[in-house]
Amino acid sequence: MPVSTSEVKRRAKTFQRGIDLPHNKHYTDGKAVERLPLPPFVVVPLRQHAGETVEPTVKPGDHVSAGDVVGDLDDRWCSAVHASVTGVVSEVEPRPFGDGTMVPSVVIRTTEQSREAPAFAERAGWQDLDQQTILGILKDFGIVGMAGAGFPTHINLAVRSKIPMLIVNGAECEPFLTSDHRTMIERTDAVIGGAEIIMRCIGADRCVFGVETNKPDAIEVLRDKTRNNPAMEVVPVAVKYPQGYKKTLLRAITGKDPPLGGRSSDVGCIVRNASTTAAIYEAVALGKPLYERVITVSGPGSVERCGNYLVPVGTTIRYVLESIGVRAEDLDGYKIIRGGPMTGLAVDTLDAPVVKPTTGILVMPPSAIQPQHEWINPCIRCSACVNHCPVGLYPNEISQFVEAGTPEAAEGLHIRECCECAICSYVCPNYRPVTHLVMEGKAMLRQRSR
Ligand code: SF4
Ligand code: SF4
Repeated sequence: MPVSTSEVKRRAKTFQRGIDLPHNKHYTDGKAVERLPLPPFVVVPLRQHAGETVEPTVKPGDHVSAGDVVGDLDDRWCSAVHASVTGVVSEVEPRPFGDGTMVPSVVIRTTEQSREAPAFAERAGWQDLDQQTILGILKDFGIVGMAGAGFPTHINLAVRSKIPMLIVNGAECEPFLTSDHRTMIERTDAVIGGAEIIMRCIGADRCVFGVETNKPDAIEVLRDKTRNNPAMEVVPVAVKYPQGYKKTLLRAITGKDPPLGGRSSDVGCIVRNASTTAAIYEAVALGKPLYERVITVSGPGSVERCGNYLVPVGTTIRYVLESIGVRAEDLDGYKIIRGGPMTGLAVDTLDAPVVKPTTGILVMPPSAIQPQHEWINPCIRCSACVNHCPVGLYPNEISQFVEAGTPEAAEGLHIRECCECAICSYVCPNYRPVTHLVMEGKAMLRQRSR
C-alpha cells in the first residue's frame, strides 16, 4: 500500500541534537540542470583535493582537449587534474583560489565553443572490474569527494577487508543547495550504477540511499529504479542539519557510532555523496574524467536566474554570475560563498574558480550577513552550542581554551572530532565565532604536532 507523504516524514530516521534551518531550497529545487555557455578561459587549480599539489604535465602553447590530463603526481594521495575545455594552455602559474592563497593553476583559453559534451562510450566489461583496477581508474580520472574537502575517492575505497554496507548520501542538508537533488532525479542511473561499482569495490552486499524527506521526487525515482534489486533500499531521513554529515547519517540509518577518532568503516559502512557516486559511474563505466560539475547558484532573492548549472571545473565565479545576469559592480557589500551557507567559503575574489568539491555559489545580500566584530565577545554560558552540537562536544569550553592559546587542553574534550558544521556559531546569542575558534584550535594542534 502506498505510504502518505506525512507518514514518510513521521517515520523518517534522524539523529540527536543538530538544528532545523530554513531550507531555502525552493529557489532552485525545481530547476533542471542547464549547461552554461563555455567560458572564454578556465583556471584549473593543480590542488583540488585533500593531499599534495600535483605537477603540471602541460606548458604554455600546448593544445589540449577536454578530458586530457594537465596535472598529476606519482603519489598515492594525489588525484589527477584534467583540462575542462578544449583549447590552448596560456599560462601555468599561481592564481587566486578564493581563500587568500595562490594555488598553481593551468589557464586554458577555450578555442572550441561547442556546448555539447564529448560523447563517452561504455567501457566493455566495466561490471566485472576488480578492486585494484577500479581504484586505478578513480585516481587517474580525478575522482574526489564532491561535497566537502575533496578527499581522493581511491583512498576512501581502498579497503583491505569486506565492508558490508554502502550508504549513498543524498541528504544534501545545507540550505539553498540542490545540485545533489537534481543529480539524483536527472542522472538516477548514474547514481545507481556508481553505487553498484562501489559495492563491488568494497565487497558490500547492502546499499542504502539516505535521502531527506524534502526531496520526495528523488526518493520516488530511486525507489522505482531499485525496486527489483533486493540489495538496495531507499531510506528517507528527517530534514535536519547536519543530516548529511557522514557520521550523523550513519547514526540515523544504522544507529551505530564509530569509536572516537574512528571512521565509518570501523562499524562496517562506507558513506559516499550522491554526485560523487554518479562521477564514479561516469569514470569507470564511461571513461569520463571529472572535469565538469553541477553547481547551484542561488541566494535569498538576490539572483534572478538562480538555478542548477553544469560548468567546467576552473570556470571563474565572476563568469558564472555574469552569464546569468549578476553584474560584479552590483555586488558591493554582498558576500559570495563557494559552497553552502554553513560550511562554504566566503571568497575574497570573484576570480576564484569552481573546483571539483564546489556544490554551489551563493550570493548573500548585506541584510543576510551576520554582524562581524574585530573583538571576540565573551561566552555567557547559555549552553546553546552544547545543546545543539551534533557530535556532543563542548564548543564553549573548547573555544575558550583556543582563545587562551592552549588548544592542547581541548584535546581531552575531543576537539579533533568536530565536523565543522558551524552550528555553534549559528546558535551563539553572543555572536562568538565559536566554529572559527574550534577550527583554529585544530589547525594549531596539527601545526604543533609536525
Ligand atoms: S564544535 Fe564542531 S561539530 Fe560541534 S557544533 Fe561546533 S562546528 Fe559543529
Ligand atoms: S552559545 Fe556562545 S555564549 Fe552560549 S555557551 Fe556557547 S559559546 Fe557560550
